[in-house]
Amino acid sequence: MLIEVLCRECADAEGNIPVYSAHIQEGGFHRVRCPVEHEIRVQVSYHPVEVLFQSAVDAFADGYYREAFTAFKASHERMLEFSIRVQLLGRNVEQQRIDDVWNEVAAQSERQLGAYVALQAQNSDDVPALLKRTAVELRNKVVHKGYFPSAAETLQFGEHVYELLAGEIARLIANFEQYVSDEINRAVWSRAEKPYVLTSWGSGSFSLWGNNKSTLVEMIEQARFDVIKKRTRPIASPAAE
Ligand SMILES: [Zn+2]
Repeated sequence: MLIEVLCRECADAEGNIPVYSAHIQEGGFHRVRCPVEHEIRVQVSYHPVEVLFQSAVDAFADGYYREAFTAFKASHERMLEFSIRVQLLGRNVEQQRIDDVWNEVAAQSERQLGAYVALQAQNSDDVPALLKRTAVELRNKVVHKGYFPSAAETLQFGEHVYELLAGEIARLIANFEQYVSDEINRAVWSRAEKPYVLTSWGSGSFSLWGNNKSTLVEMIEQARFDVIKKRTRPIASPAAE
């Protein structure tokens, strides 16, 4: 997935700052080098749930449905982690204890699902944000059997995931608003090193801050333009450690 980065050191005499593209890396903060070797510190201002969802949207816009499908799936899994962490914070569990609990379930998604269902039952009467049986069957075919989903299957799966994410974040904001922002800030900003340039993909993407009004089709339409722009710009490469 490509992101947009600005290099202030490449600004011309009129102060115009060029935009380059860079491949996203793990973690919200990374260092890249512009085509003339200036170091750029980049902070992605999104939580992994949002990054993975946007990665799915970009892949879909580019015609990579299998990649889009697995990124939608990963976004939903990270949403369950986010929800577990927020609900534990909401019950005054200390951060270190939450990390310890998470480490017990981190390696197996079925354990995470179990933790999520149990916590959700304790904190709310709402139906938990679980994938429908047909979506689980398709997911297993894609992930374990190398199945290539069609555009229609991927869009339907993505819309289902989007509905689950939007419903879950609305529920969390209604019940644990302060902890939602605490957890976003912890996960997104804890590794940031100033000064940095921010990267964002504009409005209309899935947001953990709520207010998810755009449809998935609208997001994909926007991404079709953005993906082409990002691909035609010069690339800023990862900086050596
Ligand atoms: Zn530069």
